[in-house]
Amino acid sequence: LAAEARYITNNPLSKQIYDQATSSLPGGNTRTVLHTFPFPLAITHGKGAHVWDADGHEYLDLVGELSAGLYGHSNPTIHNAIQRVLSSTGLSLGGQTPYEQRFASLLCARFHLDSVRMTNSGTEANLHALAGARRFTGRRKVVVFSGGYHGAVLSFPDGKPAENVVDKGDFVVVPRYNDVELAQEVIRKVGNELAAVLIEPMQGAGGCIVGKRAFLHAVQEVAREVGALFILDEVMTSRLAPGGLGAELGLKPDLMTMGKYLGGGFAFGAFGGREEVMRVFDPREPGALAHSGTFNNNTMSMCVGATGLEEVFTPEVCVKFNAKGDSLKKRLQDIARGTRLTFTGRGSLIGLHFTEDGMQDIICGEDLKGRDRKDLRDLFWFEMLEAGYWITRRGFIALILETSDDELDAFVQAVKEFLQKHKNLMTV
Ligand code: PLP
Repeated sequence: LAAEARYITNNPLSKQIYDQATSSLPGGNTRTVLHTFPFPLAITHGKGAHVWDADGHEYLDLVGELSAGLYGHSNPTIHNAIQRVLSSTGLSLGGQTPYEQRFASLLCARFHLDSVRMTNSGTEANLHALAGARRFTGRRKVVVFSGGYHGAVLSFPDGKPAENVVDKGDFVVVPRYNDVELAQEVIRKVGNELAAVLIEPMQGAGGCIVGKRAFLHAVQEVAREVGALFILDEVMTSRLAPGGLGAELGLKPDLMTMGKYLGGGFAFGAFGGREEVMRVFDPREPGALAHSGTFNNNTMSMCVGATGLEEVFTPEVCVKFNAKGDSLKKRLQDIARGTRLTFTGRGSLIGLHFTEDGMQDIICGEDLKGRDRKDLRDLFWFEMLEAGYWITRRGFIALILETSDDELDAFVQAVKEFLQKHKNLMTV
């Protein structure tokens, strides 16, 4: 690829940093998802809606830290909150604090939860939610969906638990997302052994594939029918509507898990929901389930997260922000009509796919099998970098609050030029 050769030539310092990293990190990497061939760019700093790499290139940040970077790099309210923690609160206090109480009450009000517990990541939130569901129901099995991603040790690509899933045998994977009959069949089959169904209302890492309303309601209903808990993983989607995507769709999960931007840019996860279920964690109860974590109530995540939710990402801002994403997606879809490029997603989270036949209505990861044109996706990535757009290699865009309309207009124009330049490759 000519674009790949230019990438190598244009990024000598990133290459050098990467080569050095390989001597102390396996493959030079500490987050598998960020590895890119032939080597990843070394991102050195961010400001506003932009990031810079070691060789001095500036990019519009469309990665948005895979949805956790919603506030952008320079939000003054967020920066003031960080400053307040540094100057008057202190970092980790080794005791319960008023800050977790404040944040918990905000999360409960915003996401319709009776009570909530904090963790350090979305992965942990899901692991603890599953432990809670197992204790509450006295059952062990969990139904998940092909393409589901619930964290580093809870991922289910291609209809199977990944190698590093703990207690793999307890997970039953429905082989297609968005397939009502299949989900009902699998859930009924596990029946009275089933502790919980764990599902994303939109598969994020799985390709920004939106769950259909009727499908999600059917899954909720059949989970209840067999006496299992319905756990909605909103680690990525809680930003898509004021009360999360589940509330927007009228779902009533027993437990909901959260994370990403909610920590204000700091490590964060949380799980919460119905009082009777959450009571299994109440330390006043005999035999309560232990849920510990040194940094669960670290003051940065508690204070900055609370400020972000209360003062920056208000329900009104949330609605406007996601409308901006919907409008961006529509404009992108308009210019890509008749090409191999298709967009999925909702609101401020957009997935882009290159398929052999330009398939439009992608409803599960299995739809992409045998159609996915990874070569075109790679070409797009290299050329968007050259045009000044920082984007994930796998084709995921998470908007951030600081991006201006003009910047998004320019991005649409850049995509248009890319499609024109490669007309021969792109036309179905
Ligand atoms: N659940 C979903 C839906 C996610 O998208 C992610 C992260 O991408 C996680 C869970 C895991 O969150 P974390 O990376 O904070 O462990």
